[in-house]
Order: sequence, then structure tokens, then C-alpha cells
Amino acid sequence: MDPQEHEADQGTATPAAPHMTPDELRLWGERFLDWVAGYHERIESFPVLSRVQPGEVAAGLPQSPPAAPEGFDAVLDDLDRVIVPGLTHWQAPGFFAFFPSPATGPSILGDLLSSGLGVQGMLWASSPACTELETLVMDWLVELCGLPRRFRSDGAGGGVIQDSASSSALCALVAARERALASSAGATLADLVIYTSSHAHSSIYKSARIAGFGADRVRYVGSDESYAMSPEALEGAVAADRAAGLVPCATVATVGTTSSLAFDPVARLAAIAGAEGMWIHVDGALAGAAAVCPEFRFVNRGLGAVDSYCFNPHKWLCTNLDCTAMWVADREALTGALSVTPEYLRNPESEKGTVIDYRDWQVPLGRRFRSLKLWLVLRWYGAEGLQTHIRSGVAWAQQFAGWVRSHPDFSLAAPAPLNLVCFRHRGGDEANRRILAALNDSGRFYLTHTVLDGRYTLRLSVGTVSTRAHHVEAAWEAITEAAARL
Ligand code: PLP
Repeated sequence: MDPQEHEADQGTATPAAPHMTPDELRLWGERFLDWVAGYHERIESFPVLSRVQPGEVAAGLPQSPPAAPEGFDAVLDDLDRVIVPGLTHWQAPGFFAFFPSPATGPSILGDLLSSGLGVQGMLWASSPACTELETLVMDWLVELCGLPRRFRSDGAGGGVIQDSASSSALCALVAARERALASSAGATLADLVIYTSSHAHSSIYKSARIAGFGADRVRYVGSDESYAMSPEALEGAVAADRAAGLVPCATVATVGTTSSLAFDPVARLAAIAGAEGMWIHVDGALAGAAAVCPEFRFVNRGLGAVDSYCFNPHKWLCTNLDCTAMWVADREALTGALSVTPEYLRNPESEKGTVIDYRDWQVPLGRRFRSLKLWLVLRWYGAEGLQTHIRSGVAWAQQFAGWVRSHPDFSLAAPAPLNLVCFRHRGGDEANRRILAALNDSGRFYLTHTVLDGRYTLRLSVGTVSTRAHHVEAAWEAITEAAARL
């Protein structure tokens, strides 16, 4: 008996909403999944960078919501007619902009499972599998990436999946703040200082501000010629603040900066932070994934002495947004800062303290079953498959860097240790702007720029899963052709 008949039977006149039945879900699920697979098949036929004008997408759709239920054929039509032209195609093989954001099959299916199961994993008790799979997968990643054992959940530390590197930095800074206030008698929030480099991601400053640190309490420590934070400059800044009666609270180092993939010397910075009683958080957003390959484990240098670390499987480890892997060496420092327990969340398992409640490791209360997609990615690719993806990205980027080096009109603008190449034409800022515009206007590629040492710099970031060697080669050809037309 369907639910509406049942209610009629009970004499209630209130109808149920037109929820999708399992049979309808099966039907539409096949159609929509087929549409997504078709999108990936057609990906090279679209201009990589969307060509719509501001407002065009919204103007192509009704300005009011439907009054009555609509058929989903109309939705599929709208996807093709309005949404796809308004996309910048991050999965296109010519996407070399920013950092990659991979929508791989296993991660798409993992997200589907997460949505389909619809559990809310705020507490162990609110869905034990959600918590326990996450803990297991985060321990797997420690092993896979050769990370310090202290990040494993069977010691004092542990890992958690956050939505972003930004949230990870925020949680780390809140924990650092609480620890500094507890250990510095008489200090107030206004006395606490955060240190990072001007090449750190803007999310570090934003996190510091959200965590309550004053704008004048975030120090941008100087960097060396490779854009890596200088330990001597950090020592100097800390000494000056101590002399002024301030309290050094945390250092945020980056392994693989956004602009140029610079590596801060984590071991030396951690030694300074340790001596000063500061928290040290390391942001390895893109580059951390390289550690799946033993030959690139230099990205982990110094992590054995840090308080917290994160990297984004949603950048280079074949997992779609959102999935940031974050670890802490002392989980109580994090949960002590973030745990607030109202009566309605109390339950016997949490009270006994024998389970992990991930709500205490993050900003929101509710949480999705994100570990499913990471689990599926790890099982689909295995260590070998992930290593192949990382190695191919590095190899193609290195080949590109070699072409840049040997061309008389181009030069590298920064070291290129992995999959990001920063380069310039010798013609100056305007020439480089024109090369970038020519490439992006072609519809075949999307590259972005940065500014290093005050000079306009082009970035080629390799790692989109559909990219192959010939796409990188074609980008270089297009760059040299654009340069020849200057
Ligand atoms: N940190 C670094 C070094 C990044 O490159 C980025 C983004 O590119 C971020 C943080 C922000 O990442 P998320 O979007 O996960 O917050």
C-alpha cells in the first residue's frame, strides 16, 4: 500500500508530498548518471573557459520557482542549454589553471553513496560506520603517504576529513589560541601573534581573523629567493614581538605555495615554534598528495615535529571537492578547543570517552559521510594507481619546464619541483598578459597567472585527470605561437 492510501485509510486528509520513490530514483539515477558520463566523454568539445557574460546564466532560467512539480526531462534540457555553457570545464584536459579539482568516477560514486545513505555523522552514535570508516581511511592515508606515526588514531593524535584547507587552518588556529591563552598567564587574545609568509594562501589570514586575531597580529615573515619562509626572519619577528610584550601563538607554514609551489623549511620552523611554545600548522594543500610516491616524500620533511597538518585529496589525489585530510599530533588540544556539549547530544558512548565524535574536530555540527569517496578512490586506484597519476603529472610538468628553459625567449620564474611551472616571456608584463589571453581565448586551454617579485608570471599547473602528455605539448606549442605573434 502506498503511503498516501495508508493515510487515507487512517482517515487523515493530509496528503504526502510527491517524494521520489525508489523506482523513480532508479530510473532518473540512470538517466542522470548517463548524462554525467556523457559530459565527461564530451569534455574536450567545450571551450575550457566559459564564454558567458555576467547574468547570462540566470537570464536563461525562470525568475520564479515552479508552482507545480516539474518533469526531469526539462532539467536535463536546461543542463545542456544553460548550465553547461556557463561552466568553466575543470575536468577538461586543457585545464592548467589554479590547481586541479578532480571529479573522478570513484569519487563521484562515493559522493552518490554518501548522499544516498543520507546519514549525519556528527557523533559516533549518530552513525558508527561514518566515524569508524573515516578514522580507518585517515590512518590508511598516514601509511600511504609515509606520514609520521603520531598522526595515527591509535596514539594521541588522529585524522579528520574537513571540507577545506581553509577550515583546517581555522580549526588549527582556534586550538593554538586556546593553548596559548591557557599557558600564558595574564595574556589576552589581543596579545597573541600569528606568523606566516606572504606566499601563504589568503585563507591563513582569513582564518586568523575569524579566530579573533587582530589584523595587526598577523605577521608576514620574509622569504628567500625561492619564496620559502625564512627561519631567520621568523626568529627576528618573534624576538621583536617578545620584546614588545606580545605572545607568539602560532606559525603557519606551507608546503607547496599557491603562487609558485614554494616549500617552507618546516623542520627549522618547527624547531623555532617548539622553542617558543608556539603551535605550528602546515598547509600542504596541493603538494601533500605527492607523498604517495616515495621519491617525492621531501614534501613531508619536518612533519614529525608539527602540531597539525593538512592536504587536499580534492586537489591532486583523484578525489572531488570537498575532501581535506587534516591530522593533529594531540587530538585533545583540538577537541578541547572545539567541543561544546548541549544535553541533546549526550549519549552513553560519548560519555564513556571511548569513541571519536568528529563534531568536536570541526566548525559545523553536522557532517557528511565524506570518507566513502576517499575509501572508493583508494580502493579503485590502489597505491600504484595514485602513484602513476602523481608521477605522470610531475613528468609532464618537468618536460614543459625543460622546454621553457631551453627557449631563448622564455625563462622559469621559480623552481619547479613538482607539477607547477611558473614562467615568463622576456617581453615583460604586457607580453605575458597577451600570451595568456591568446591561450585562454582559444578555448583549448585555461592557464592562470600570478605575480612574483612584482612581475606578471604565467602558471601551468598539471594534474587534471583527463590530461595527457600531448595536451601539455599542445599548450607549449600554443604558447610559442602566441609569443611569435607578439
Ligand atoms: N592552501 C593552499 C596552499 C592552496 O593552494 C589553497 C587553494 O588553492 C588553499 C589553501 C585553499 O584550499 P581550500 O579551498 O581547500 O580551502
